[in-house]
Amino acid sequence: LASLADVDTPVAGRHRVPDRHAAVPPSAPGAFANTPDTDPSVPEHRVWVREILARVPDSTLGAGIDDARVHDAPTLDTVLRDAQRAGRAWGARPAADRAAILDRAAGVLEAHRGALLEVMASEAGKTIDQGDPEVSEAVDFAHWYAELARGLDHVDGATFVPDALTLVAPPWNFPVAIPAGSTLAALAAGSAVVLKPAAPAERCGAVLADALWEAGVPRDVLRLVQVDEGALGRELVAHPCVDRVILTGAYETAELFRSFRPDLPLLAETSGKNAIVVTPSADLDLAVRDVVASAFGHAGQKCSAASLVVLVGAVATSRRLRSQLLDAVSSLVVGDADDARTQMGPLIEPASGKLLTGLTELEPGQAWALAPRRLDDAGRLWTPGVVTGVRRGSRTHRTEYFGPVLGIMTAATLDDAIDLVNDVDYGLTSGLHSLHADEIGTWLDRVQAGNLYVNRGTTGAIVRRQPFGGWKLSAVGPGAKAGGPSYLVGLGSWTSTRATT
Ligand code: GLU
Repeated sequence: LASLADVDTPVAGRHRVPDRHAAVPPSAPGAFANTPDTDPSVPEHRVWVREILARVPDSTLGAGIDDARVHDAPTLDTVLRDAQRAGRAWGARPAADRAAILDRAAGVLEAHRGALLEVMASEAGKTIDQGDPEVSEAVDFAHWYAELARGLDHVDGATFVPDALTLVAPPWNFPVAIPAGSTLAALAAGSAVVLKPAAPAERCGAVLADALWEAGVPRDVLRLVQVDEGALGRELVAHPCVDRVILTGAYETAELFRSFRPDLPLLAETSGKNAIVVTPSADLDLAVRDVVASAFGHAGQKCSAASLVVLVGAVATSRRLRSQLLDAVSSLVVGDADDARTQMGPLIEPASGKLLTGLTELEPGQAWALAPRRLDDAGRLWTPGVVTGVRRGSRTHRTEYFGPVLGIMTAATLDDAIDLVNDVDYGLTSGLHSLHADEIGTWLDRVQAGNLYVNRGTTGAIVRRQPFGGWKLSAVGPGAKAGGPSYLVGLGSWTSTRATT
């Protein structure tokens, strides 16, 4: 594949390349197909990307968030009551109407791919190769949830009663795909949404909301709200008009939300501490590629990231995989998101707390195979770190750092490796590199995680093909999987048709 950094001749005379997907027809209702990402091997796509990158440093997209700031409790109360009322009317509309608006939203999101990439790079430090699949995922969510909405009204003699109001609390690391997915799901199910973007990526939320309003989602049915995460944040989560909260974030945040309101219907995807196991039968070239992408894509700031690699048997004792891995990691180009050469962008905020510890402090028995180096004064740009000698039960084994540090562990057998992988509190994603059917079967039977990937990286779940959700402390609530066939059915309640007629 060509890389975005290949500087070649721009298409002469064009200073604005039209939407790069103009030629891709939207999928027809009932004929879901995943939308393609931008393709760096297409010269026109590269030119288009360069134009976006040139706008990033001065970008003001998403400034509309300022209009959405709520400063006091009476205003917040009014917003939530109005939204609840609007939600009742929205839920009473035929599901086909809502689905039609979602299908339109898919087209509008696609048309705004460039703007979404621009705001993700400027505000959240997302490189184009990381941001682009988010837009594809958002488009997919719109089509997929439209399709699910069409089948939702009656299932097996029961009638679906949607929630009136859903609070969507997304994270900053996927500032488009996750708020889009949660919002579109709730809208499809028939609920109004109050979208409260994560503070470090609030402008991304504003650009997203604009696109959904443009597609025909009524303004009173989707409210964009920003509040300080102090007393008003608590009020927002605990407010009696909120029927459900869809949260993606740290496990501690889910616990905090529950402490605000113990009976809160919460659908949360939370933290992860994910590993890729590599056995002697693996294709090591493929394993190295997938470990590097899973550990260091978006500087490791993904719940789905692999922050451990467990080498089994002869892979642990031979030098081959280690030296290939270290060569690959040390060649990653670290830089700002608006530089086309960058392969690993900045942290969203200067490293602090657990992450700073993980980047700077070794534990007993550990050694740096590659020591992270800070490249800027602020502490947002770090070279990737690889630490060896990670012991079972150590901080590096069990703590989610959410940054660019990969720990290497070893195991004598696949069973031992699976024990290590399972000996963490979380269970979000898990990876195996093996070409041996028995090994794959054993691992699939025993490993405890919501998303299992064989001979593939652990990030980048794809709507419908790989519904995404966790196990153990990686999920709070019913554990429905985003992008899967049953996500909407949990966003309301069911009454027996016979009993009510
Ligand atoms: N769905 C994303 C993926 O598959 C991860 C979401 C997250 O980090 O919360 O990579």
